[in-house]
Amino acid sequence: MGRTSKDKRDVYYRLAKENGWRARSAFKLLQLNEEFQLFQGVTRAVDLCAAPGSWSQVLSQKIGSQGSGHVVAVDLQAMAPLPGVLQIQGDITQLSTAKEIIRHFEGCPADLVVCDGAPDVTGLHDVDEYMQAQLLLAALNIATHVLKPGGCFVAKIFRGRDVTLIYSQLRVFFSSVLCAKPRSSRNSSIEAFAVCQGYDPPEGFLPDLTKPLLDHSYDFNQLDGPSRIIVPFVTCGDLSSYDSDRSYPLDLEDGSEYKYTPPTQPPISPPYQEACSLKKKGRLAKEICPQDCLISTMDTLPK
Ligand code: SAM
Repeated sequence: MGRTSKDKRDVYYRLAKENGWRARSAFKLLQLNEEFQLFQGVTRAVDLCAAPGSWSQVLSQKIGSQGSGHVVAVDLQAMAPLPGVLQIQGDITQLSTAKEIIRHFEGCPADLVVCDGAPDVTGLHDVDEYMQAQLLLAALNIATHVLKPGGCFVAKIFRGRDVTLIYSQLRVFFSSVLCAKPRSSRNSSIEAFAVCQGYDPPEGFLPDLTKPLLDHSYDFNQLDGPSRIIVPFVTCGDLSSYDSDRSYPLDLEDGSEYKYTPPTQPPISPPYQEACSLKKKGRLAKEICPQDCLISTMDTLPK
């Protein structure tokens, strides 16, 4: 497959490179902002699960231009530096990382917390949705420590079976909760974004990092009455903008000639780096899985 093939199949991937964004996700945040004016009056923001850093790029450009902008970006993976962005490498579900983030906002809370966190997808939908929900709740927990009253929280959400419980929990803390789907997010993807505005925790609420927010004693499918929240669903991004589920010819309508653009910022320390270097040396051997051994042993057993 040629290197232009992905440019044809994924117009937002191509446009991200041509516009200097580190990832196509930049368009999701930009389209969410078009709809909800997320950056209005924002000077302090947290970008959770930020690598490779396109949301941080957007944030630093949008709020950095207002003079006193301050962005803290956090990810498990190392991220190349960005002007005006303070980086923390860590796991947002860990107490130590949460404490480190909170320290930066003590006495001076954030206006906006965003989280584009996604677990390594396994293909087992229930597991993936559960892991995604845990990331979102870890992000919400951090947000309850750093957000100013009236502040905004935006987080990736998988619209799975049990999503109602998450909406209900978000609604406890925010006066408005919506589910938004930017045009740059593929229709075929279960992902959407919870846009929570007007941070307004219940009276007497004391943020507590040791208390998990997800109460497992709930029967997820039995939420009803005031506990069952059906949030509005909003699509965002100009309807005339590109459709992320379509392939486009390399020569777009604007008449300009296509020229291949390399990625803006290749990952600096990807987890697959070791595998790539072993493959180059022809030393990437398939690991023997104990299950395979078991099967082959069983196959040789006398019937
Ligand atoms: N918003 C980013 C951008 O625009 O460049 C893309 C984020 S990417 C879709 C998801 C990120 O979530 C990955 O970089 C991954 O390392 C991060 N992530 C997943 N689990 C995490 C965790 N527990 N703590 C911190 N980061 C995590």
